[in-house]
Amino acid sequence: MENKSKKFSFIRSLGFKSALVILVVGIIPFLVCVPISMRAYETVTIDNDASNIIVQALQYNSEIITSGYIAGEDNRNLETKLQSVAEAYQGRILVIDSSLKVISDSFQADEGKTVVWENVIRAVKGETLSYYDDDALYLIVTVPLTNSEGDIVGAIVINKGMDYMLQNEDKFISYYLIIMVALLSFVIFVAVVYSHRCIGPLRKVSEDLDSISREYTNELPERVSYTELESIEEQFNQVLSKLHSIDESRQEFVSNVSHELKTPLTSMKVLADSLNGSEDVPLEMYKEFMSDIGDEIDRETKIINDLLSLVRMDKTGAALNISAVNINELIEHILKRLSPIAEKSDIEVVFESFRPVVAEVDEVKFTLVVTNLVENAIKYNNPDGWVHITLNSDHQFCYIKVEDNGLGIPEESVEHIFERFYRADKSHSREIGGTGLGLAITKSAIAMHNGEIKVHSKLGEGTTFDVRIPLNYIKKEGE
Ligand code: ADP
Repeated sequence: MENKSKKFSFIRSLGFKSALVILVVGIIPFLVCVPISMRAYETVTIDNDASNIIVQALQYNSEIITSGYIAGEDNRNLETKLQSVAEAYQGRILVIDSSLKVISDSFQADEGKTVVWENVIRAVKGETLSYYDDDALYLIVTVPLTNSEGDIVGAIVINKGMDYMLQNEDKFISYYLIIMVALLSFVIFVAVVYSHRCIGPLRKVSEDLDSISREYTNELPERVSYTELESIEEQFNQVLSKLHSIDESRQEFVSNVSHELKTPLTSMKVLADSLNGSEDVPLEMYKEFMSDIGDEIDRETKIINDLLSLVRMDKTGAALNISAVNINELIEHILKRLSPIAEKSDIEVVFESFRPVVAEVDEVKFTLVVTNLVENAIKYNNPDGWVHITLNSDHQFCYIKVEDNGLGIPEESVEHIFERFYRADKSHSREIGGTGLGLAITKSAIAMHNGEIKVHSKLGEGTTFDVRIPLNYIKKEGE
């Protein structure tokens, strides 16, 4: 099936289709024009001949009447004239009286006979008629003969052989055929050249895409082609540069993860080696080193836990376990859990709620959001500092503000703090157990709830995080 569709794929190709359109558009008018112009030629020729014959008949009218020929008198001279006209027309001339009797016939076949042909009967009644017999190829004109008083006394029937018209048509057809062959060759040439040129840029783009997909490096080169194609190329380059930056950030993430996971392991190795390498280690030193190793294991565990949280956040909103959560209780619960570390540094933590707020959130992930923000406000604070948490809502959103008068963030670092593994003050952050993943997790969790987070900070004065999430969770399309 696939083979078959490949076999005939040229039929679906743009090149083939545009060539076909040019061919049809170029040839059809010609094919239509030939029979129409033939028909027009026939009509004009027949009309012309008929008018000439009528004029000729009227010329003989008075001679036929005045000479008494119509009444049966001999007129050799007139007969010879009529005979020679009939021969010139390659036809026949009949003179008929009002009783439909044939007075003279250039074929001398029907003289004395009565004619009952409709056109003759109508001519005797006064009508001038012409009739083209396309089987016998004759033009038959019937003209009434009138006397000087205007009475109809008979009719003259003139037949003209129209073979010459067919011969002319044959000539036309052979000219047309020559023109047709020339036109067809020209149209085929134009169709092939145009369609080739037309799809040329597409073919080039396809080749470029092919090499990009193999090497996954360069961008599509800029080429002047069609506006539509240029815009597709531009969009493709944008997608490609996004892919590159995703790839880069993935590589960076992997190298950061390896580095972060290696650091505690290296410390543990150094501690263990120094214990193993020295003899008669005092018990205190042994205990101290073992406690340091325990700390490094805690740190390693924290990094792994944070990484796992982050990976879970990277999944789609379908992974959310949404329920109506009392946010006041949730914050109070978190503050209770964090109070020991706040007390340790004499940090005053104040929670102010303007109203009871219930929001549709994933309790676990939202707990991570508040915990990270409050924990950071405590961690990056000065002894005797304060942390204010305010909770408010309107009919649409829940607002949480976490404010501290701590260390603050340097201006140039503010835009980076939500990046994975980013730490504004590396040495201090490590000292207080930071992994650099907390705010990345926070931001992802808020985004999953269709919310927003903003930060204002001044170095040495403090930091404020403003979080806004919808009270009602609305699933995004595709989730
Ligand atoms: P960490 O685990 O290092 O705390 P986060 O992602 O939570 O990582 O924070 C990233 C960086 O942002 C921190 O290392 C810190 O330098 C800075 N930061 C975050 N919150 C605050 C705050 N309240 N006050 C000052 N600096 C902060």
